[in-house]
Amino acid sequence: MAHGISGMMRERNPIRLKDAHSPDLNRSFGWGWSFFHVLVGFLFFSLSATAGSAGQCSDLYSPKARFVETPHGKVQITSESAIALLRDQQTIKEALSLRGPEKIKALLAYSKQKTQSNLNVGLTFVNYAMAMFLAHDIAVKLAKNPESLAPAAALIPVTWVAADAVSSAYHYFLDNWASPRNKIWGSAATAFRRHHEVPNNLSQTGFVQNISAFGKLMAPLYVATAVASPGMSAEVQTQALVALLLFSHGTEIHRQAHLPQPNRFVRWFQDKRILLNSEAHNQHHRKPIDSDYGIINGSSNRLMNGFYERLDKILYRFMGRMPNHWIQHPRSIPDSVVNELLTEIHRMPQELIVTASLAKNSDERIDQVLKVWIDKFGHSSGEAKDAQN
Ligand SMILES: [Zn+2]
Ligand SMILES: [Zn+2]
Repeated sequence: MAHGISGMMRERNPIRLKDAHSPDLNRSFGWGWSFFHVLVGFLFFSLSATAGSAGQCSDLYSPKARFVETPHGKVQITSESAIALLRDQQTIKEALSLRGPEKIKALLAYSKQKTQSNLNVGLTFVNYAMAMFLAHDIAVKLAKNPESLAPAAALIPVTWVAADAVSSAYHYFLDNWASPRNKIWGSAATAFRRHHEVPNNLSQTGFVQNISAFGKLMAPLYVATAVASPGMSAEVQTQALVALLLFSHGTEIHRQAHLPQPNRFVRWFQDKRILLNSEAHNQHHRKPIDSDYGIINGSSNRLMNGFYERLDKILYRFMGRMPNHWIQHPRSIPDSVVNELLTEIHRMPQELIVTASLAKNSDERIDQVLKVWIDKFGHSSGEAKDAQN
């Protein structure tokens, strides 16, 4: 009562403009923003788990059957993804049988990144426009509260490591679980896997084409941040913008780590380990390609590597699917899983039959599993020859 009209107004309108920047609200927006990313990640994962079921033995009599030569005889392959894998392996084998420039030409043709759609390229530039809006908004907020500058800058290294961990999780997902047939990330998953077969394929792709691969994927995240920005402090918004820019350029940071002569400006950051360098990234390309997934600078690798090893086993138990690196490099399948396969042979994915039959992958344990599978499900009949011709 003693405060008069202005006091009453304050009581009736308890949320004032100043409150919009209170630490509590900032914190809740910060958490909201993080939660949004976790939610998007979960959505991707669950969608992919349903969309990308790996080859099962149930569709054994599909008219698309192909045949693979195993050490124990010819086997019929029917799952679409296993047939696609078989086709890829045959293409690589043919390319490797060539010599000199012909061989390089064939390998690069196989691993060439597909041209990005106009929508993806257009959205990449829209994302840049939103980044400029967010940066301008941060500048306005900092001009009002100059004391926010120091904490905003001090938090950037933490965001950098966190962004590396997120890039690592996404890369792990694309390499191991994403279905190549999925409409949103299928082509990215295929591109990542072919990149493992021919790691120097990225020298053929230009900057805009390369970053545009993530145009569509990043656009909703930029929009969400822009919508939430009125409630964000300069500190939080700076971290959001740094993370968005790092994710948008993740493919380019990765590409620069593969170039024999990276951009000089980038090279400086690579030397200081601020951006991913070739030494750190080469660890990922060592077979069985099951670790060091970080593509911003690799600072989260130590933390994440052990986690993925456990996650592989948990997800296999939970979803009944194998991570792709087990399929591609059967030697990396844990003994416990091999023993389980021997007793539950129907769980053997057809993709594994394809890769386990490659001479370079020979592994006694898997060879035994393959033999048990053939004993149970049988060789292909005489029609195999006809079908192949
Ligand atoms: Zn990879
Ligand atoms: Zn790479």
